[in-house]
Amino acid sequence: MAHCAVCTSADTGFLAEKNGYSFSRCNVCDFIFLDPMPAQEELNIQYTDKNKEAEPTYNKAGSRLRRAWVKLPRFFPYAWTKNTLDLGCGGGFIAHVLSMVAKTSTGIDINANAVAYARSRFPRPVFLCKSFTELLESDKQYDFIYSSEVIEHVSNVNLFMSVLQHLAAPQAHIYITTPDSGHPKVPRNISQWDVFTPPIHVQFFSKKTAGILFERYGFRIVKFYKNKKPGLIFLARKI
Ligand SMILES: [Zn+2]
Repeated sequence: MAHCAVCTSADTGFLAEKNGYSFSRCNVCDFIFLDPMPAQEELNIQYTDKNKEAEPTYNKAGSRLRRAWVKLPRFFPYAWTKNTLDLGCGGGFIAHVLSMVAKTSTGIDINANAVAYARSRFPRPVFLCKSFTELLESDKQYDFIYSSEVIEHVSNVNLFMSVLQHLAAPQAHIYITTPDSGHPKVPRNISQWDVFTPPIHVQFFSKKTAGILFERYGFRIVKFYKNKKPGLIFLARKI
């Protein structure tokens, strides 16, 4: 049984099995994770190999763009005249709307097809195709980092957090969304939860898990947004 990657406790135990994958849960911080955890290279195949979403046109592009505009007022106080980043930007919809209010807007994704689509569609932001390890070499920092539905996909959550820490300017705001394993609407038998889909989603967080993880990397969660659906939406600040 693996140690918890979030709080490092050895107090973890088997939780559930699905699609031939086994999940463990940390009894200290609620972290739910694939055990054993596949290597990132194995997971990346899903995002880099002929991803249907990215070509030739982006799936549901119209509604993605509309939803990005609807979300913009929420980001405005943190993004206005700032350097902003969408980490895991996909087709670039959020980076595009951020570019209308920010000083600079950057979108980064591991999927080259998604980045190519974003570049061809949205001229204002800068789009980069980079891996986490490449990002640790970057000398750019951002005041507002948006990363939606990314953290539940990464093999090494500590590497993801190191990247966030590295890219966040002092006092930066970080806006994260991810499934919420502590939400009352999650089925009692967690393997029936519609987002419980290994190896697409390899780990799950509750408010408690997120708080412990972000604090370890020098962030404080300043706000959890209300959500009727089982999704965590929160704003953290670099201390
Ligand atoms: Zn833990």
